[in-house]
Amino acid sequence: MFGSKEEFKEHFMRRFEQQTEEQSPQTAYAVLGDMLREHIQEDWERTNTRYAEHKDKQLYYFSIEFLIGRLLGQNLLNLACYDLVKEGLDELGYDLSEIEEFEPEPGLGNGGLGRLAAGFLDSLASLQMPGHGCGIRYKGGLFTQHIKDGFQTEQPTDWIRETGSLDVRREDLALDIPFFGQAGTAENAEWVKAVPYDMPVVGANGRTINTLRLWQAEPSDRPIPSTKTMQIYERETAAISDRLYPDDSLDEGKILRLKQQYFLCSASIRTILKERQFEIRELPDRVAIQVNDTHPAMAVPELMRVLLDEEGLDWDEAWAITTRTISYTNHTILEEAMEKWDSYLIETLLPRIYQIIEEIDRRFKAKLATQQLSTHDRHKLSIIENDRVKMAVLAVVGSYKVNGVAKLHTEILKQREMKELHEQFPDKFHNKTNGISHRRWLMKANPELASLITESIGSGWVTEPERLRELDRFAKDQSFHASFEAVKRQKKEQLIRHVEHISDSPIDPDSIFDIHIKRIHGYKRQLMNILHIQMLYDRIRQDSSFRPYPRTFFFGGKAAPTYDFAKQVIKTINTVAHKVNSDPLVRQHVHVVFVENYNVSKAEQLIPAANVSEQISTASKEASGTGNMKFMMNGALTLGTVDGANVEIFEQVGEENAFPFGLLAEQVMQFEKDGTYDPQEIIRHDPEIRQVMAELTGGQLTDGIENSNYIIRQLIDRRDPFFVLKDLRSYMAVHDQMLMAYTEQTRWTEMAIKNVAASGYFSSDRTIRQYAEEVWHLDRRS
Ligand SMILES: *Cc1c(COP(=O)(O)O)cnc(C)c1O
Repeated sequence: MFGSKEEFKEHFMRRFEQQTEEQSPQTAYAVLGDMLREHIQEDWERTNTRYAEHKDKQLYYFSIEFLIGRLLGQNLLNLACYDLVKEGLDELGYDLSEIEEFEPEPGLGNGGLGRLAAGFLDSLASLQMPGHGCGIRYKGGLFTQHIKDGFQTEQPTDWIRETGSLDVRREDLALDIPFFGQAGTAENAEWVKAVPYDMPVVGANGRTINTLRLWQAEPSDRPIPSTKTMQIYERETAAISDRLYPDDSLDEGKILRLKQQYFLCSASIRTILKERQFEIRELPDRVAIQVNDTHPAMAVPELMRVLLDEEGLDWDEAWAITTRTISYTNHTILEEAMEKWDSYLIETLLPRIYQIIEEIDRRFKAKLATQQLSTHDRHKLSIIENDRVKMAVLAVVGSYKVNGVAKLHTEILKQREMKELHEQFPDKFHNKTNGISHRRWLMKANPELASLITESIGSGWVTEPERLRELDRFAKDQSFHASFEAVKRQKKEQLIRHVEHISDSPIDPDSIFDIHIKRIHGYKRQLMNILHIQMLYDRIRQDSSFRPYPRTFFFGGKAAPTYDFAKQVIKTINTVAHKVNSDPLVRQHVHVVFVENYNVSKAEQLIPAANVSEQISTASKEASGTGNMKFMMNGALTLGTVDGANVEIFEQVGEENAFPFGLLAEQVMQFEKDGTYDPQEIIRHDPEIRQVMAELTGGQLTDGIENSNYIIRQLIDRRDPFFVLKDLRSYMAVHDQMLMAYTEQTRWTEMAIKNVAASGYFSSDRTIRQYAEEVWHLDRRS
């Protein structure tokens, strides 16, 4: 298919003319999809045969989210035929970028955790390693966000298409999963059919095509319980793979989430074991299961169940196998994100699984009984406590390795959050700093910069991204500076073309592009950014000598549908944006743009255009962050707190090439402990902050006080739990430093180049190599 351009054109046209639909870019998308599917089929089968013949140890990455982004362009790029196809289509009068836009973005994830899983799959295949994803095929991706009157609105996104998609329904592998009923016998159970859809994961330049297996829930052929009507049964079944993170404020929603988690774990584990060609006792040498956060922690009791009840092993054998097969990644220490399920819910929905969890807990407690431990320690070490199951404790006890996602985060886990567990299992804990796919975030999102890099240092960095370091040689090279600046300018202009229709006034490509894109959350502190912008507005209007260099502030991000505070932050951003952008004086210096419906495709447009990367989480709260790495790789300077992977970014590039600010993690944690932080004191002493608070209270920043109440309540009544007011001064000061630095063009460009040069460490290829060697032992053959 992709032999030569002429061959491609001929093949493409032949297919195209066979289509009954009109010859639109949409049809072209479907034709390309079909061609791609045929092209990779053989390599996909060959990869699987190779794994089977060589008895390679296989990794399965269990994740409730896979934020894979659009695939057509990335697949063509990894097959090294993107340019050929693009030129061929060009000559036929089609624009590949336009065709790519017809691919619906599969929003099977919410944010960084899901994007990490997708990036890992890309690295695994590209490094020719046997690693596959196991997830859920949600019918509706994450909602589509529109902004109406400054507020977020949510619309369901359906991304599944009949044509052009590469996934394959594997009816032959379908299996029934029981819920409710009697422990052990599954008598009176309600069965759900799990059908896998296999999606090829195309590695770069190699011939490795791994599999992302996404499970869909369908009605089973078995009789349904007499207590339920067919209609209700069908609705409840479809709900399992209907959407990501259903609202779980009520029991009904909790049951649904538990069903999803168990559905994913049970279907995946049973299939892995059914398809195996080895003795069950060899499992840990032939299979590694990585549990991405606690959502798939049911893998622990489910693997135990299969080993005990279906394979007939005794407890000790089963436990030894389970705890040598499963490993767990912790992603957060935010209390609200630590999953705890009511015992009665698990016991009702999954009676046998609950028995097993109880037994794991009982045996662990018996082991601890011989030790001198405080009551507090015993609490922290309980899997079941106050009639709730703590999934993180279950995951730690049931795995052989537990990792944090950045150095600082791992230290906080070991020394605080999981101190007691760490003391019990000191060797389990390790760090694996997250990474990003440089193939997507540099080669795909910024081909202009990728070409410039290759022209300068050769293409070695493509397979060994740490060789981006060779760019340091060009950090002071004048002609390289000119090309580098030209690329940045080009990416800014491209971004402007993509977003100008949503902006109420023209965007100035000469302004500093200062970008804050990520989920909207209290700890990510979009509020601090927008309050600072309002303060700039006030200062420009009040102080005629204050005329700062023009900046365009971009925001993008979705708020969880039930998170009222975050929704009011979106409203605040849009209200302030409107105010700033319509003021003839202020808008010469400050421009604010909220980009609707932030997702992977939007990120690919925004990040290459950035000069400044806003990474301003409250120190200790952002476990790693990966957005920060994408920006750095595209030559943006990090303006950020000493948090998550920012710490390692500063380490790699040098603090002098970034803008760190704010409270340190230790200081934040100290304040949290002693409760001495009082936001009112700051408001009393700082006139500028007092003014912005008065404007907020008066409703000027939110179109009415009703809206601002949520924000006031957080800052005042809840005493500003994310230290927004506490860090504001330091944030303003670092912005001033940044402005100073930007006016020295040459120095700025040098810093930007050094950021790209130092970004190779953050390729997920590095992360995956570390996991493969230290955790999964993927080279180990039996
Ligand atoms: C990278 C990415 C994220 C994670 O961003 P953080 O800044 O690390 O929170 C979230 N959403 C999308 C679409 C991404 O591409």
